[in-house]
Amino acid sequence: MEDRELYRRILGIENPWHVASVDLRLTSKEVHIYLAHEDLPTWPCAECATPSKLYDHQPERQWRHLDTCQYRTILHAEPPRSQCPTHGVRVVKLPWAEPSSRFTALLESLAIVWLKAASQKAVAEQLGLSWDEIHGIDDGHIPGQSCRTDKSSELLRPSPGSGRPARTSAPASRTHPPSGSGREGFP
Ligand SMILES: [Zn+2]
Repeated sequence: MEDRELYRRILGIENPWHVASVDLRLTSKEVHIYLAHEDLPTWPCAECATPSKLYDHQPERQWRHLDTCQYRTILHAEPPRSQCPTHGVRVVKLPWAEPSSRFTALLESLAIVWLKAASQKAVAEQLGLSWDEIHGIDDGHIPGQSCRTDKSSELLRPSPGSGRPARTSAPASRTHPPSGSGREGFP
């Protein structure tokens, strides 16, 4: 089986996306997988799913995936942006990751499951993530929260001075109040 087809199957990449190339870096024990998509004139709006005209592409982004065969696995793609008549220009939904995440949905899911049984330190070591990375994943999935919003994990970090204004455009009402209380009260 060709390596592109192998990785397409491992990653579960479906139309209109495909694996364009695979770059195996033996010395650094990394495999870089470049994803590309068919030329589609319209993409579903990320907000309302209305077929919307392709507007442009974001610069290339990277997502850390679960290791494959002990190789650190990194996905690369240029996410398309569509122009919805109602919602304007939005990055389309990518099947492998949540909007603003640097990790694939699969890696995040595994980390969340492990975090129920092990410490952040243990999970970080096992998945080869930094303290900040595992903390960000843990913070982004508060129990009871059905799905993460596009807030940055920065918003949920405990901050020394209370009432620090949110750095992103996410409205405060959509998330937990930025009172500086951080994770207090969470299990
Ligand atoms: Zn829309």
